[in-house]
Parts: sequence; structure tokens; C-alpha cells
Amino acid sequence: MVKQRTIKSEVSISGVGLHTGQNGVLTFRPAEVNHGIKFRRIDVEGQPLIDARVENVVDTSRGTTIEQNGVKVYTVEHILASLKGSDIDNVLIDINCEEPPILDGSAKIMMEKLRNVGSVEQNAEREFYVVKKKIVYYHPKVGCELTIEPAEKFTIDVKVDYKSQVLNVQEAHLESFDDFEEEIAPCRTFVFFQELEMLLQHNLIKGGDLSNAIVFIEKYVPEEELRHVAKLFNIDSVGVYDGGILNNTSLYFENEPARHKLLDLVGDMTLLGKPILGKVTAYKPGHFANTEFVKLILKNLK
Ligand SMILES: [Zn+2]
Repeated sequence: MVKQRTIKSEVSISGVGLHTGQNGVLTFRPAEVNHGIKFRRIDVEGQPLIDARVENVVDTSRGTTIEQNGVKVYTVEHILASLKGSDIDNVLIDINCEEPPILDGSAKIMMEKLRNVGSVEQNAEREFYVVKKKIVYYHPKVGCELTIEPAEKFTIDVKVDYKSQVLNVQEAHLESFDDFEEEIAPCRTFVFFQELEMLLQHNLIKGGDLSNAIVFIEKYVPEEELRHVAKLFNIDSVGVYDGGILNNTSLYFENEPARHKLLDLVGDMTLLGKPILGKVTAYKPGHFANTEFVKLILKNLK
């Protein structure tokens, strides 16, 4: 028998949101048993709550966006992953804008903050979803497949394949959440150079600079285009470094992108609303597929 947990006291992070570019403060607050994970938009009259559950997902185009009571919170996945990684069941998350800070594009800083503040056992049993038979989600157009099968604990295997010359076919595994903070949480978000201009034109990644995402360059990019991108990001110049990475950064792990996709999947699966016991295998996961997979699991478990 495992008890539910919440944080010992409140803790805040601040910074700019990746897609909206809004500067905001996010505060994790302890919450009572069976509360689950809820956001509270304290900048909106009446301070409406948004339950971190899959039925509130309204958009998955770049990150996972949830909406309830007429208000949204964008890009919730790294926050949710950090809570799962910290073994927290119940928390109220106050936010004073539409999107959590992206920080360094990973879950590392949130997890450090949550570890420093610590957690406490609560006086109620933790409930788990238990998978009784294999559940398969398949998207023929994208070719992605996510499955979960019965298992004693929650484990995840991820494989990504971008048909890219600079980002090879990669795998990442998580056997125990004891390893999450060290092995998965530091892994940063990434983007392909070819997507950058499209994202900027669609008014996304307003808060993106070249420090909170790894940018992979697939093919030769003319000097003029690099200068154009530099201008869009308000930086003096950009160069291409080893391994087809645009900004001057090196990978923390050779398979950091696959590990980040695992991080995102953990965040999206937190939208189940309860922890789950099962072995997950994911080929080409993404926010749309992840959240559809979560809906399918809930349908199957009912
Ligand atoms: Zn992510």
C-alpha cells in the first residue's frame, strides 16, 4: 500500500513561456488528499481552476494545452512530468499568465525546486490504474504506435525516427522513476531548423531563443538564411556546430531527443489523473498521439 503525497510547502519558478513569450510566475502549493493536479489562473477574475486531465486537452499542435472554465494553460507537459518524477499526487499550481516558464526547455529546474522543498506522505491510499490487457493506439498517417501492457510497475520504452541525417533513430528507456531526475529530466526540447520560420510566422515560439531548445540543421543552410534567423531571434549571429546543431550547445546525452520525447510522454500520461501500472512502448510519440493514447486507455479501463 502506497500513500498519496503532496509538497511540504509552496515553491515558485518564474520566466518566459516558449510559445506565448509571456513572462510569468508559477507557484506549486500543497493540496489535500484526492485533489490531484490542478492549475489556477490567478490573473483572471474568479481565479478559475483547470484540472490537469485529458478531457480538458484542447490543443496539441506544439505542446499540450488544457482549458476549463473558459481559460487555458499552454505547454503543461514539462510541469506535469516534473510532478510525476517527484512522486507528487496532489498540488495546486498558481499561474499568473497563460503559459508556464520554459526555463531551459527541460524539467530539470522544476525537479530541483520540488526536491529542495520536499514532499510529505498524506493520510490516504494512492489509487492506481491497473492495465489488464494490452491496449494499442496506432495512427496510420503518422505511423506512430503506443502500447501499454500489464506490468507490476510503470516503465517506458521510446523510439523516435525523424528520417533525418543529423538526428538518427534513437531509443530511450525508463525502468524506474528513481532514475527520472538524473536520466530524463535534464533532457531539453528540440526543433528542426526548417520548422523555425514556420513557427515564428504562426506566432509560436515567441519566447524561444537559442538557449531553451536544441536546433537541428538537416542540410546546408545559406549564410543569408542563417543571418535572417539570427535577426528573428535578436541575436548577433548564429553558426552551425558539430552534429548539425545550430546553436553553440552540445547534447547532454547522445540520445537526448529520444529522452525528451519520453519526458513529454510522462507529462502527457499524467493527464490520466492517477498513476498507472503498465509497460509502455512508444514508437514516434508526440502530443497528439500521447493524449489520444491516454483517452484510449481510460476508455478501455472503464
Ligand atoms: Zn517537451
